[in-house]
Amino acid sequence: MNKDILFISDLHLGLDKPEITKYFLNFLKNRARDAEAVYILGDLFDAWIGDDDRTPPNQTIRDHLKALTDHGVSVFLQLGNRDFLIGTLFCNETGVKILSDYHVIELNGIRTLLTHGDLLCTDDIAYQQFRIRARSQNWQKQVLSKPLWLRLIAARWYRLRSHFHKRNKSATIMDVNHETVVNVMKEHHCLRLIHGHTHRPKKHYLTIDNQKAERIVLSDWRKNYAEVLCWSDNTFKIETL
Ligand code: MN
Repeated sequence: MNKDILFISDLHLGLDKPEITKYFLNFLKNRARDAEAVYILGDLFDAWIGDDDRTPPNQTIRDHLKALTDHGVSVFLQLGNRDFLIGTLFCNETGVKILSDYHVIELNGIRTLLTHGDLLCTDDIAYQQFRIRARSQNWQKQVLSKPLWLRLIAARWYRLRSHFHKRNKSATIMDVNHETVVNVMKEHHCLRLIHGHTHRPKKHYLTIDNQKAERIVLSDWRKNYAEVLCWSDNTFKIETL
């Protein structure tokens, strides 16, 4: 019998949310061990300022990820808009493999597209422009060359700023653009899409070229709630931790 495949996203791990870190470490030590693979679809961390940042809880998380991959479970990671600076050192130390922004897997022969979700929010033009800049090698080199203490302070400042920005943005701008979703699914020849980012967990049904298609949005993790999408016996189940 095939083992389960698990999907999670938007844990937003950080020092200020010890409960969520506890859920995650527990998940890595227990539930995830029985799986064949774990797919983390971005924003595992609330902020990532470079692989050299070993301030809590980063190192503990690294160690637990390493223990899981050593145990034989494949762990795949897509970069989110908060943790896109995760790099090779992190991967080497944890055994986690980074996937491209759009990645297709087959589940029982059905092509399934995985992505974090921020690329689908094309109505947020300011963000998409920032994203292009922030994903360039030059920008990243410049940021990562700053001393760690400066990056720690800058991250705090950005987080605060993003909090206020979000409050001013309308709810539709912060959600996916339907046309973009359809185009991206067509481009990748997929009738199933799984993503996170919007923190609006739901299963949406749509039609693409007269064919039934589905878009599964993963839940973010909260202080008192953590959810895992589980592919098991050729069907999806939602497990709460
Ligand atoms: Mn996100």
